[in-house]
Amino acid sequence: MTIMTKLFGTTGVRKIYGTEFDVEMALKLGKSLGTYLKEGTVLIARDARTTGLMIADALSAGLLSTGVNVVRGGIIPTPTLALMTRELGYDAGLMVTASHNPPEYTGVKFWGADSMGLTQDVESKLEEIFHSEQYQVATWKKLGNESSNGTLVASHIERLLERCDVDKIRSKKYKVIVDPGNGAACVLTPYLMQELGCKVVTVNGQLDGHFPGRKSEPEKESLTDLIRLIENTGADLGIAHDGDSDRVVFVTETGEVIRGDRTIAFLAQEYLKTTASKTIVTTVDSSQVLDETVKKAGGETIRTPVGDIQVAIKIRDEDAAMGGEACGVFIFPEFHLAPEPFLAACKILEIMAKTDKSFGSLITNIPIYPLQKSKVPCANELKPKAMEKLSDVLPKAMGDVVEVLTVDGLGVFLKKGWVLVRPSGTEPIIRITCEAPEEEITQNILKQAKSIVEETMETL
Ligand code: MG
Repeated sequence: MTIMTKLFGTTGVRKIYGTEFDVEMALKLGKSLGTYLKEGTVLIARDARTTGLMIADALSAGLLSTGVNVVRGGIIPTPTLALMTRELGYDAGLMVTASHNPPEYTGVKFWGADSMGLTQDVESKLEEIFHSEQYQVATWKKLGNESSNGTLVASHIERLLERCDVDKIRSKKYKVIVDPGNGAACVLTPYLMQELGCKVVTVNGQLDGHFPGRKSEPEKESLTDLIRLIENTGADLGIAHDGDSDRVVFVTETGEVIRGDRTIAFLAQEYLKTTASKTIVTTVDSSQVLDETVKKAGGETIRTPVGDIQVAIKIRDEDAAMGGEACGVFIFPEFHLAPEPFLAACKILEIMAKTDKSFGSLITNIPIYPLQKSKVPCANELKPKAMEKLSDVLPKAMGDVVEVLTVDGLGVFLKKGWVLVRPSGTEPIIRITCEAPEEEITQNILKQAKSIVEETMETL
């Protein structure tokens, strides 16, 4: 067992069950959180993974042993857990999930009383307690109590309906195909759509931790069944989620899978019409189309490192209007600070209803810029040196540089297009991503950037 390796990744703990994470570690994590909190109540929920109940039980046992109370929420989406942790005044929320990772993975996402993911300094403190094994121990008289709450999803749906023009959407009687990917959204999205007067057809709609229907990550390649259903039934919209349902990908009435950053741009346009704040937050890997759309709508974008917590922190600090990630994360701070895929779905239907236009025709106003990716081998120990050198030579070599961003990897923004160079967190490679308004420019940027990265590698 790799006890001393780093426990927390980009979003909580996410590991392969059996070799990297087990029930004893979950017990210790529960004790660690209880020790950190000292008192109070923690909400625990899970997605449909086969390991979920056991890991949740162990976390609960650990917390109870420190004297902290536990409320069990069963199988619910991650955003429901985050929202209800804040709304019901709990001190923390634990979601047992490995998000969109394959079924052999398990893990825990930690949420604070403010509906935001835990920041790195709190994670470091938990990790310190975990490794020191200096836990708070309650006597038999002072143990925590465990209870359960089965109304969390219903409350979440109620809050969502308060935030959109329900009558307007209902009047349209939309046909919607929902693909929860056998994940936690099975218990929410189809019911929400019914409340909105939609005729709902679900695919991969039964909870199953083996993910029998498709890969948990919702993307074009894994959504072929959903796309076919849209085409065969003449549906108005397709909605697809990942395992714990903090992500959502939308599919148009013609079966086009829309990339998240385009959808953020689409929703940001609408939001900026009414919000006091004109700031939209996104990650370094989002399309320049987003910046351009936001600018046209009178706003500005701020970019953060990848990860929904990074986006949430920036939204909070900058008092931004909304934000999100290209992989299908949408955060609406007027509601809460966790990803909110369901409100994104409500808002799209609302805009469709108000304009009397299809999602496909509305989204054509947001252009698609060609994106190209490549990679260059780089040993893990050489990565810091390579990135240091590249931050010097790459901007100089590219020409027409408008802005250089180093919040996460090295982003060089040009008059037309951008290149992002990031060392992989898991593999011995450096990833290069390029985007420009035209295919040929994208190709040229990629060719140029790749040769500079390769040349730099030779000098190390
Ligand atoms: Mg997820």
